[in-house]
Amino acid sequence: MKIDQNKCVGCGNCVPVCSMGVISVERGRVTVNENECVECNTCYRTLRNERRNPLLVRAIRWGLGHVSLAYDPEPDVCPTGALMPLQLAWPRSLRAVFSDPTIKHPSTGVGGRGTEEIKSNDVTGRLRAGDIGLVVELGRPGLGTRFRDLQSVAQALAEAGVRFEARNPVTHLMSDPATGTLREDVLDEKVMSAIIECRTDLEHLPSVLATLQEAARHIDTVISAGVSARCGSRGEVPYVAAVEGCGFALSLNSKTNLGLGRPLFAETSPVAETPA
Ligand code: SF4
Ligand code: SF4
Repeated sequence: MKIDQNKCVGCGNCVPVCSMGVISVERGRVTVNENECVECNTCYRTLRNERRNPLLVRAIRWGLGHVSLAYDPEPDVCPTGALMPLQLAWPRSLRAVFSDPTIKHPSTGVGGRGTEEIKSNDVTGRLRAGDIGLVVELGRPGLGTRFRDLQSVAQALAEAGVRFEARNPVTHLMSDPATGTLREDVLDEKVMSAIIECRTDLEHLPSVLATLQEAARHIDTVISAGVSARCGSRGEVPYVAAVEGCGFALSLNSKTNLGLGRPLFAETSPVAETPA
């Protein structure tokens, strides 16, 4: 994001709406720390452009300031339209693709996180019987993540034997999906968050989770992880004991798919049976 210094009147309205806290006011103008800006466009989308004349607004603010009064625009406007989203070149364009939910990921055609919801799995069959799916999200608003950290976690997971989901934007940036290595030219780019998707099986889940815990100690952001699987024939969730056995508390914020969609795939192995 660029700020047109000829238009900015330094009202500061864009400072609190910045999702990464990278806008600062200096000597009556604001500037963006471009190295940390993730091009999410939140500032531009949140603030209405009132298209006021910057010279006039500055003169009014200056004049009122001399008599201990102030002209402050409504908090949801940029009075002069000084915020300027730019046409971004590769690889910086990745920042917007991963951070602005209004933009679709070119690799998957899906907006937001760029990957299909697992709750449609009964139709899409991305996770089959016996698969344990993992979504590993790095970054959060205010913190973000760089692809170098995503590579570090992906390489650790690859060594633990996972298989990366092909229809995922991070996998799409891998130069070697077997090792979790990303393209060199993207490593320094920063995004608000990104998701690694992969699968393993129940037997290897504890070692994969231990790998993830260790990898989290060596990166400069936060990780949240989700585990998913097809339920057994009696509705049981196969991974509960394995996850809790690793010391994790499972969130009750779960989604259960009743399986009323028409599957677009044929299951090749039977859904797990558990003894009554
Ligand atoms: S809202 Fe607009 S005019 Fe006000 S500080 Fe931000 S860029 Fe400048
Ligand atoms: S594009 Fe996003 S990160 Fe960059 S200055 Fe605007 S709100 Fe902040």
